[in-house]
Formats: sequence, C-alpha cells, structure tokens
Amino acid sequence: MAKLYFRYGAMGCGKTMQLLQVAFNYEERGHKVCVIKPATDTKNGKKLLTRIGPERETDFCFSPNDNLFKIVSEKYKDVHCVLVDEAQFLTKEQVDELMQIVIKLNIPVMAYGLRLNFKAEGFEGSTRLLEVAHEVEELKTICDCGRKATFNARFINGKMVADGPEVLIDGSKADVEYRAFCPGCYYKLLEEE
Ligand SMILES: [Zn+2]
Repeated sequence: MAKLYFRYGAMGCGKTMQLLQVAFNYEERGHKVCVIKPATDTKNGKKLLTRIGPERETDFCFSPNDNLFKIVSEKYKDVHCVLVDEAQFLTKEQVDELMQIVIKLNIPVMAYGLRLNFKAEGFEGSTRLLEVAHEVEELKTICDCGRKATFNARFINGKMVADGPEVLIDGSKADVEYRAFCPGCYYKLLEEE
C-alpha cells in the first residue's frame, strides 16, 4: 500500500537535496517519478536548486487552484512516486488531493517542506500534512549555538523582521534572506531588533 510522507525541517536542512536523491534512486532502477513544486517560488523558474549544487527540472509547477489529483490521474498515472518540493505552499485541499493520489492511484507521495513560517506559525500545507500524512519525519539542522534549529527567521537588508506577508513577491529591491535558529536564539534576536 502506498503512503503519504511528509518530511519537514527548517531552512537549510537539505530537503530539496533529499528529494533529488530519492528521485535518483527511483530512476536508477528504471522507475518514473513526477517532481512538482508550487509556482509561488518562481525565482528559479521551473527548476529545483540546492545550495550545494545538484538541480533538476520539475515536471510541472502548480498554482493554488490546481487540482493535483486530476493532473496526476490524467498525465502521470504511470509514475512510481510523486515528489513535492516547497510543500508548505500547498493548500489544505491540495494536501487532501495528494492523499487521493495515494489511495485511489496507489502511488506514494513524498512531500518536503518547512513546518513554520518566519512568524513561527504553521504553513497551511504543512499543518494539514502533519495532521494526515501516514509517515512524518523531521530533517534536522543546527542553529549557530549548536542546538537543533526549528524556527525560520526572515532578514531584510540584514535586519530580522517578524511582520509582513507570508510570501514576499519577487521584484522588490530588498535583499531577503531566511535563516534557521533554535527557539531560544530566534526570540533573543527578535527582542534585540
Ligand atoms: Zn540557538
């Protein structure tokens, strides 16, 4: 029986790298995979990039109104696995559509994403995945202080911010960066700003 997997972690924990490794393992055995990501993140076009090098084209990028069960049943029914990057940007309905892919098409779905946004609140997609996924696994990374990093901080022009939209629209001139911290360091930095 196929399952819905959610692998989450903070910024820089290697989620995309692991997704690419899983895709490689399937393809090495001659199995087809379907790699998808939300159109929310358009700065790299259709590509998945990793900080340490490897990259690949996605099969398609989806918008919040796309029905993922419909798309996969019509075009990708023959794949052995569906891999979703940036799964935090899924809508609740799309997570439920992923579950239908698992149940009705018997195709495993592995979703990779952040659990918390920069305000330390759960993303819609991640929250639903944590509720319903068959298997949930945390991918770990460390804070500057050496503790486990679970929070994500947004920096604009080098300054930490805790207000603003969940997704920043590209095209602003500001230098935006995200870094992972443990809760202790996150709140300490916030108080200092
Ligand atoms: Zn820390």
